[in-house]
Amino acid sequence: MPSRPRIAVATVVGLLGFVAPIALSIQFAWNQSVAGAEAVGTRYAAEVVRRSEVAARQFGRAIKVLNHDNLPPCSPQEIELMRSLDLGSDYLQMVGRVSGNTLECSSLGTTTRIDIGPPTLTTEHGAQERLDFKYGPTGFGKVSLLTANGVAAAVDGNLLLDFDTGSDGARLALVVPSSHDHTRIIQSSGAFDPSWFNPIGRGESKSYLDGENIISHVRSRQLDIEAVSVIPSRLVYRRVRQFAVVFVPIGCLCGLGFAWAVMYISRSRGSLTGLLRAAARNNSFFVEYQPVVEIATRRVVGAEALVRWRRGDTVISPASFIGLAEESGVITEITRIVIENVARDLPRLLEISPDFRVAINFTATDLKHEATAKRLMELVQRSGGSARNIVVEATEHGLVSGVECSRMISVLRLEGFRVAIDDFGTGYSSLSCLQGIDLDLLKIDKAFVDTIGTDGVTRGVVLHIIEIARSLQLTMVAEGIETEQQARFLLERGVEYGQGWLFGKPMSIENLTKMARETESAQPLVPA
Ligand code: C2E
Ligand code: MG
Ligand code: MG
Repeated sequence: MPSRPRIAVATVVGLLGFVAPIALSIQFAWNQSVAGAEAVGTRYAAEVVRRSEVAARQFGRAIKVLNHDNLPPCSPQEIELMRSLDLGSDYLQMVGRVSGNTLECSSLGTTTRIDIGPPTLTTEHGAQERLDFKYGPTGFGKVSLLTANGVAAAVDGNLLLDFDTGSDGARLALVVPSSHDHTRIIQSSGAFDPSWFNPIGRGESKSYLDGENIISHVRSRQLDIEAVSVIPSRLVYRRVRQFAVVFVPIGCLCGLGFAWAVMYISRSRGSLTGLLRAAARNNSFFVEYQPVVEIATRRVVGAEALVRWRRGDTVISPASFIGLAEESGVITEITRIVIENVARDLPRLLEISPDFRVAINFTATDLKHEATAKRLMELVQRSGGSARNIVVEATEHGLVSGVECSRMISVLRLEGFRVAIDDFGTGYSSLSCLQGIDLDLLKIDKAFVDTIGTDGVTRGVVLHIIEIARSLQLTMVAEGIETEQQARFLLERGVEYGQGWLFGKPMSIENLTKMARETESAQPLVPA
């Protein structure tokens, strides 16, 4: 990519990389705070339900005891018993006998009959409740009066709702979900919006952020009651601030680190591209040749030209710069240099064998570049050879990258150049792509040759590749042969040519020429 757009992209990615961790840390702080506040609200509502269930159990026990005491109703002995039940219960303020809408007597010692009026609601178990019941001028204030099976008990709702909620500003309410308007039994303080009384399933709980408040519901499994807690969302903001103090600086650090890394990589890639261009100008690229042998005889019949980059005392492998060279467009310059080197060296090889073949690697960019065909023709003319002496090597990616590539391949084949598919099987389109392209050779990648003689799961693939090449009548060259066992295996399966450290590593033109001469009249190792 040219440097200006690359810097723009790097700046955008760097900025995103800076902002994203901060935004994520704030989002994380918010989520944590909302979840924390919801948990607090649910805890409050659950406590109200728990207390209500204890009160209900205490009322149930009072009914049981009084209805089995066999004492004369409202006798001094029974009133004494009522008193002990009253004192022994945390949440019952009074226990008494009731008949219809009349309280006959109570644990407070009264035997005067008191009209308690009609019930506010009747629960599904048949118990009746009179809300906001005002009991006597000397008694306590407003209570809920529960009556069932001739027994009455007063429950002070404040006892159910009154516990320490710290500075959370929580409001609590207890409702009867089955009543048609979800009748409120009692509430602690402040007004309750009717929309907050939202019945849920038995034994369930629910908590959510509703604008200004965190609303939490907990419904009893056994009783027809549901507790609601309402906490102002300022608690959330307070928690967000607490979390943000920790997480936002971490997010900032991550963001800065990421942005720095993006800029650093982009600048170093930018400078690497500059170095590649400079290397192309300064003749720092040179070519080594790896011999291609006839496996049966070990005769050197050709070679692959492999580029190298000399930087000071070190020689850099193409694997580490070809990708960037292609990305930055420097590859066309590198390919031109390789072609020039081959044009200079080929005559020495043709002297040994007029059929000698030199393979040159081409990328998709080269195959789209119009000058490539022209340069190859010039190479042939200058070296005194023919197009048959040159093998155009391209990977699957190069061969299927658009119509320009296919057109270039057709033109080159018409001119007589041989075309090889390199690293076959390591790409993504394999067989389907092969059927659509005119090819002469298939190079079996080292990755598959390596599996020969092993028990790896892919060891059978090499046989399939050989089968494919044979069915398409392609000449096969196996790459990366390092052992005699591999060479024998391939030869036995009809692979004629090979390349690899077993025969020779990439070498200078002088060494290649020497090796080609030495093997010129080589005979099969194992006579047929
Ligand atoms: P390639 O075209 O598949 O070349 C074969 C690679 O395998 C070469 O690596 C070669 O040195 C290595 N090799 C050959 N036999 C053996 C062996 O027995 N054992 C091992 N371990 N390695 C072996 P090299 O030279 O590092 O090249 C790597 C790749 O870089 C090449 O793979 C090719 O894709 C690319 N390349 C090299 N020169 C050029 C060039 O001039 N132009 C382009 N476009 N790409 C090139
Ligand atoms: Mg190659
Ligand atoms: Mg290869």
